[in-house]
Amino acid sequence: MADNCLFCKIAKGEIPSQKVYEDENVFAFRDINPQAPAHIVIIPKKHIKDLNSLSEGDDLIIGYVQAAAATIALQFPEMKNGYRVVNNCGADAGQTVFHIHYHLLGGRSFGWPPG
Ligand code: 5GP
Ligand code: ZN
Repeated sequence: MADNCLFCKIAKGEIPSQKVYEDENVFAFRDINPQAPAHIVIIPKKHIKDLNSLSEGDDLIIGYVQAAAATIALQFPEMKNGYRVVNNCGADAGQTVFHIHYHLLGGRSFGWPPG
């Protein structure tokens, strides 16, 4: 837990969220400002700043988080025919919360390349 980290506080239940999934490594909740009919934020419970800040063993956690996206997608009929998983790493990519997270989006079609 990092001091004053919004997502650490959400994972601990200190700040309320609409939880959709939790296990020993992962916490997932609805995005407060959804960009698709279903927009879920998936985080590791361990505080990791971003993809450039992995320590030894964190690759396993990141793989676990990514795999959890597929498990969570099964909960959402909107994702039956596909979904998008996005990580924003760093300010230029649009990262605003510096606790690594993956966006899981579904329920509409998505353009490529992303904006
Ligand atoms: P980023 O821009 O860092 O990739 O994504 C951060 C995401 O967290 C944004 O989509 C934003 O809407 C979401 N977010 C920020 N604050 C909160 C909050 O307090 N609760 C929830 N549920 N989502 C949040
Ligand atoms: Zn954190």
